[in-house]
Amino acid sequence: MLITNTRRTRDVLLRQLSRLARRAVFGSLSETYRTCGWPGCRCHQGHKHGPHVYVSYRGPDGTTGYYVPRALTEPMRAGVAAWQELQQVLRQLAELNRQRLWERKRARGSRRSRGSSPTRAAEHL
Ligand SMILES: [Zn+2]
Repeated sequence: MLITNTRRTRDVLLRQLSRLARRAVFGSLSETYRTCGWPGCRCHQGHKHGPHVYVSYRGPDGTTGYYVPRALTEPMRAGVAAWQELQQVLRQLAELNRQRLWERKRARGSRRSRGSSPTRAAEHL
């Protein structure tokens, strides 16, 4: 019963994984406000331009990132949220994997102790 439930949970998690992976975007979002190069612009009186959505992530050469076009802000937010959720689902799957290894070891352990019983030893002779 426990095994069936675990298997069902695993299937649900794997389906979530595949659904999330289809739209996940790696990185974290932040919003910045900037001043421009026009001397008379209102941004120099405190009304800065923005928010500009920025995605930063750790690349092979350290932290890097890029600005997100305004039209893509919402799908990018969803993508980054999917990435976060993906980590949670992966953690749950990894925990199931760990539990399965433990259960397998327990099962092997009980088989071994049965195998070393005098009766079983006699059968092998
Ligand atoms: Zn400006």
